[in-house]
Amino acid sequence: MSPLFSSPSAAEAAPFAQASRRAWLTQVAGSLAAAWALLGASKAQAKDRPGAGPAGQVLVVGAGMSGLAAARALSDAGWSVTVLEARPRLGGRIWTDRSLGLPLDLGASWIHGVKGNPVTALAQEAGARMVETSYDSTITFNTSGQPVSAAERARLDSLTKRMNKALKAGQQAEKDKPVRTTVTQGLGYAQMNAEDKRYTDFLINSTIEQEWAGSATLQSTYWYDADKAFKGGDVLFPDGYGALIDHLAEGLDVRLGHAVSSINWQANSVKVQTSQGAFAADHVLITVPLGVLKAGGVSFTPALPQAKRDAISKLGMGVFNKCFLQFDQVFWDPDYDWQEYIPEPYGLWTEWVSLTRPTGKPVLLGFNAADTAQRMETQSDEATVASAMQTLRTIFGPQTPQPKAWAISRWGADPWSRGSYSFNALGSHPRQRDDLARSVSGRLFFAGEATHRQYFATVHGAMMSGQRAAEEIMSSAASARSAL
Ligand SMILES: Cc1cc2nc3c(=O)[nH]c(=O)nc-3n(C[C@H](O)[C@H](O)[C@H](O)COP(=O)(O)OP(=O)(O)OC[C@H]3O[C@@H](n4cnc5c(N)ncnc54)[C@H](O)[C@@H]3O)c2cc1C
Repeated sequence: MSPLFSSPSAAEAAPFAQASRRAWLTQVAGSLAAAWALLGASKAQAKDRPGAGPAGQVLVVGAGMSGLAAARALSDAGWSVTVLEARPRLGGRIWTDRSLGLPLDLGASWIHGVKGNPVTALAQEAGARMVETSYDSTITFNTSGQPVSAAERARLDSLTKRMNKALKAGQQAEKDKPVRTTVTQGLGYAQMNAEDKRYTDFLINSTIEQEWAGSATLQSTYWYDADKAFKGGDVLFPDGYGALIDHLAEGLDVRLGHAVSSINWQANSVKVQTSQGAFAADHVLITVPLGVLKAGGVSFTPALPQAKRDAISKLGMGVFNKCFLQFDQVFWDPDYDWQEYIPEPYGLWTEWVSLTRPTGKPVLLGFNAADTAQRMETQSDEATVASAMQTLRTIFGPQTPQPKAWAISRWGADPWSRGSYSFNALGSHPRQRDDLARSVSGRLFFAGEATHRQYFATVHGAMMSGQRAAEEIMSSAASARSAL
């Protein structure tokens, strides 16, 4: 970790204390005028007006984990909240697809670190079934498809140690460099034999790109790992992550198919233009992914402050995709949760998870990250499956049967995501996540995984950011009221 990194305060990570806020929020009733009237909205638009609540009106843009967590907290505290969502479904990057007749999570699968994790509490409240998987339960296959020998394992362990040492030294260096440059220079990659090069590539891809989704040529050595993790095991949801979203959204006013194109913020109100008419409110919470902000998917008038625009352009948005393959029967050893492969060419089908133990089904899940993931998005499903099967046939033999069905994600091309999750790119700084999170003029508020300095790229980071933003909106309204 670079010496420049300053530890976050414990308060930032503290879950939102909803009950203690309810009492005073009821006193804030009627403090904020109905902006709709000020905007002189037409009758046709008025039917879409969010109703004024006892404490104020809020529009939340995005019905992913962060937007729904915020809407839930505000609604429970007596606020009038309307959630505007572009997609025809809830959940954003939590997406349980049932097109193959079984629940498959094309976005997030796991709670990473169950201890003290707010998502664990939500899952328990939702009554969702959880099954633990473990990285300790991993088998690694070499490029020829054989389980790695003791000698190969020792070589990988030695390269891992050297890579970690090089990265540590890189974090103390005077100048930041891309993670890949730090590793390749530190390990003398140019002088390595072909096998060590392949091993080093495998380690960079499997431990860094598959984790943070950005290309190792773009991730910052100083900051790539400037995140925190909860303790405890990793669990997934055999019946789908979507159960948590459905539970959170119960009773909320969510308008699906409402793509927000522009946000006009003034001293007294905010007007939001959607594909289905205009909305207005006292406060707007923006939770669209960093990738959407980067692409200018939502325009702001006046423009956002410079620090926020810098954060949007400098922080990275990575790509990480999934390919579920459903077979008639299991032909792999289902006792291993993870199957790793040392590929040639670079980064292709390095990581696999068997869903047999957690779900009882003959399903394998393959991952691709960063440039490989992005490249693969441009090819057909059939070509992606053929490429995956080539790897599986190298490992399990030429007789390995074709899958009977598949489900493939393309988060990079998805217009409502434009990437899978954020990473700390070379040229960015973790404090830019605070810039991204900071509210503007007491009217615009921001949440989403990319706004969380320690828990970015996760469901819990998204959830905590939504709860933080809800708290900010309530505090801001209380200060405005006391200033009257
Ligand atoms: C393949 C993959 C695997 C992952 N695995 C894990 C995992 O195992 N564990 C984990 O903790 N995290 C994982 N993550 C990360 C996690 O899914 C995200 O960090 C989290 O779900 C993000 O929530 P969010 O609310 O910030 O954003 P989102 O869920 O993206 O919500 C934002 C919402 O805004 C909507 N939107 C976008 N543009 C507009 C617009 N113009 N108008 C209106 N609405 C708009 C989107 O449709 C979306 O619903 C994974 C992500 C991916 C893609």
